[in-house]
Amino acid sequence: MSQLIVSGMRPTGKLHLGHYLGVIQNWVELQHKYDSYFFVADWHALTTKYDKTDELKADVLNVAMDWLAAGIDPNISTVYVQSYVPEIAELNVYLGMVTPQNWVERDPTLKDMAKILRTKEGQNSQISYGLMGYPVLMSADILMMNADAVPVGVDQVAHIEITRDIARRFNNIYNTDFFHEPQPILNHCSLICGLDGNKMGKSFHNDIKISDTEEVTAKKIMTAITDRSRMRKTDLGHPDECEVAFKYWKIFGSEDQVATVKCECENGERGCADCKRQLGAVINERLSEIREKRVYYETHIDEVKDILSEGNKKARKRASEVLATVRDLVRMY
Ligand code: AMP
Repeated sequence: MSQLIVSGMRPTGKLHLGHYLGVIQNWVELQHKYDSYFFVADWHALTTKYDKTDELKADVLNVAMDWLAAGIDPNISTVYVQSYVPEIAELNVYLGMVTPQNWVERDPTLKDMAKILRTKEGQNSQISYGLMGYPVLMSADILMMNADAVPVGVDQVAHIEITRDIARRFNNIYNTDFFHEPQPILNHCSLICGLDGNKMGKSFHNDIKISDTEEVTAKKIMTAITDRSRMRKTDLGHPDECEVAFKYWKIFGSEDQVATVKCECENGERGCADCKRQLGAVINERLSEIREKRVYYETHIDEVKDILSEGNKKARKRASEVLATVRDLVRMY
């Protein structure tokens, strides 16, 4: 029997190329090798956005549409919504009971999030009980499917470690080997930079969305930072110091295109504006099929809802089997 993987993403806006290249592309490959479960983590969105839920429903669908357009195949992968699998909340209770408080407190992502919230709000009260419990909830997401492995970015490895610790502790306490200790599968793509040279992020106004139109993409690319030392087209360029545009060429261009861009730039035969106009066209070409599919799903939203509904059923089936064993092991009534 093939091994099972599970991974999720929070519905906090339309996804960008960092998500696509850094995460989804990897899932698309893995779904052919593993029994794959991908969920929209709407409870996790509430950990920081519990008071900003106007767009939550729309964003669940947005994430699902981005995934489907990018190649997640609902015929081989299970795509579901976290809050439609209430068994996760029950498992979260059992796992919370066996998790020492200091394991949660030392979680690095949580520490960073707490720091950001504190600076923003100027007070501790913004760190809710729900946010504190985020590492345990994430463990519940993974152990709910009793996954063998979890595809993640390097920034998420600590969450897999705490999940392994919790699984081991549960197994020790209840004298079982029921829970697998899931392994991380690291994404092979490093962080994608945004148009300003910093990490591409949805709240930094430096991203290109999967769902952006060709016109919007072309316009955005024209704002990408290039080689700052270059003033005129005839100045000799330094592609390796080109902060964004040449990095995108290396991601989206063919080997020949990259070699031509490098050579022309170094010899002062290519201006940055022309270079970015061409780059915009290359990126649009690469994304055209995905975007066509995205538009299809936008205009067939019932199909997306049906896919989620089927996925929810499948995920609940697996979850209720796991939960029955857990209840038995804990000796619940
Ligand atoms: P976020 O939506 O920012 O919470 O990101 C969800 C996941 O997407 C992160 O854990 C990363 O693994 C991945 N991700 C987000 N932004 C980028 C980026 N710029 N480059 C590569 N991966 C990213």
